Amino acid sequence: MKFKTLVDIKNIEEKRALVRVDINVPMEEGRVTDTTRIERIRPTVVELAGRGAKVILLAHFGRPQGEVVASMSLKPVVPALSRVFGTDVKFAADCCGEQAVSAIAAMEPGDVLLLENTRFHPCEEKNNPSFGKELAALGDIFVNDAFSAAHRAHASTVGIAEHLPAYAGRAMQAELEALEKGLGDPVHPVMAIVGGAKISTKLDLLGNLVARVDHLVIGGGMANTFLAALGLGVGASLCEHDLGDTARAIMEKAQENNCEIILPADVVVAEEFKAGSAHAVVRADAVPDDRMILDAGPETVKHLENCMRTAKTLVWNGPLGAFEMAPFDAATVAAARFAASRTQSGDLVSVAGGGDTVAALNHAGVVEDFTYVSTAGGAFLEWMEGKTLPGVAALG
Ligand code: AMP
Repeated sequence: MKFKTLVDIKNIEEKRALVRVDINVPMEEGRVTDTTRIERIRPTVVELAGRGAKVILLAHFGRPQGEVVASMSLKPVVPALSRVFGTDVKFAADCCGEQAVSAIAAMEPGDVLLLENTRFHPCEEKNNPSFGKELAALGDIFVNDAFSAAHRAHASTVGIAEHLPAYAGRAMQAELEALEKGLGDPVHPVMAIVGGAKISTKLDLLGNLVARVDHLVIGGGMANTFLAALGLGVGASLCEHDLGDTARAIMEKAQENNCEIILPADVVVAEEFKAGSAHAVVRADAVPDDRMILDAGPETVKHLENCMRTAKTLVWNGPLGAFEMAPFDAATVAAARFAASRTQSGDLVSVAGGGDTVAALNHAGVVEDFTYVSTAGGAFLEWMEGKTLPGVAALG
């Protein structure tokens, strides 16, 4: 995976740098409630502005479906940007046309300008070629710092890059380098943990992983489908019984590729899908008909930790159980903390992300202790599926 970064930009002073960012931040009553995404793009913005570029931020916000929707304006994000960047960020009420052109013309080197939501134009998500060209005409170089939007071939992620020299920003670079260490060119043995609710949403991901990793731990609701495919009774558990053949095909592919699949040997069963529901630990082949599996058991966790002790690389997506409800968070929390301590002692490279994984690792209090935790949902999953992300390919 080859891409240019900010160090490859020469003579940047006074250049107009169009920077695609992810500032799809949570808001309440017109105020930003979590600035994590803004902090992630800070290094790129501060570096470019510090080197004398005119920094023009392009971003989407929500899903306005190609129409101007006042509640999805990016204007209310400006004060938070100014605070985090430590500079007075300006705003243009359109991402193209007269308003954008005149706001850019008024910029001085080192200024930062935010353009209005790109998705107010239907041409953005359609990657309309003339819209991409129009956006590109606003700048001299293109920097993409929004990995989370890189799985979409939109005008502001792909179309624009066809007309300008394109570079990865610092956040994009960090993400791509971490992902490369996780699956691109990892140190073996590689262990993957895949959990979550259903396998139907993760078929491509499982298919890709069994061909690449040495050990694949399957947990969460999706493990039930595998247990059922092996002929075990899963009682009242969440289970995709119609996907038995698919689960068996994944297990066969794993065998062909010398990938060991680790399924729960013991499980925590409960009466109801409810916090604190009456529960017990049973062997995976002895689940009572009227009980549901809500977590992996302690013996499974021990086995998983033993495997992690020899692994050099860990890639993780999805919780091992219904982690939002105590005590069914136990396996996820224990495995996460073990991975964190192996990472901190320098024995493991750990990369995690996608869907509820960040929430689960947050719950375990270990986000800072992993090598890299990606907050990009869809893009992270597509990367785990082995797909080429169009926004990344455009930087090559
Ligand atoms: P995903 O978005 O696919 O990663 O799925 C995450 C969801 O899977 C979480 O909300 C968990 O509560 C849920 N989950 C994990 N294990 C189970 C289980 N054994 N039964 C039902 N839901 C589960």
